[in-house]
Amino acid sequence: MQQETSTKPVPVPTPETEAFWEGCAQGLFLLQHCDHCGHVQFYPRPLCTQCHRTDLSWRAAGGGGRVHSYTVVYRGPGPAFDTDVPYSLVLVDLDEGPRIMANLRGASEDIEIGSRVRLYFEERGGVHLPQVEFESASSRILKTSEESTP
Ligand SMILES: [Zn+2]
Repeated sequence: MQQETSTKPVPVPTPETEAFWEGCAQGLFLLQHCDHCGHVQFYPRPLCTQCHRTDLSWRAAGGGGRVHSYTVVYRGPGPAFDTDVPYSLVLVDLDEGPRIMANLRGASEDIEIGSRVRLYFEERGGVHLPQVEFESASSRILKTSEESTP
């Protein structure tokens, strides 16, 4: 079902998040890796949350993770979401460690804590938003860092 998405809000990149959103446009979910202590973090920040150094590198996530928790939204945040409800909002523990929040594509009654999910991207107003779907339902959408290197 095609839905009108132009009135939904879209993220506005900041200096800290600009590289992340550029990665999303290329099908990459970029995580910050600390070059000093190896910590992996999301969301993007100017320094490592473990050792407070600023030498961070961007690397693409593999795209897999497990549902940590979820809720089912029956009343959206605005009229643009009226045709989406009910939808599921999930906290996902990525295989690399960071926990993210995303919308889950698929039937709400099929969610279980620990369910395997995969990232994909939904284009909205020129921005590619990370979303997740059940791993069993996904086709391979994300690229790896190696594939994206020219
Ligand atoms: Zn660090």
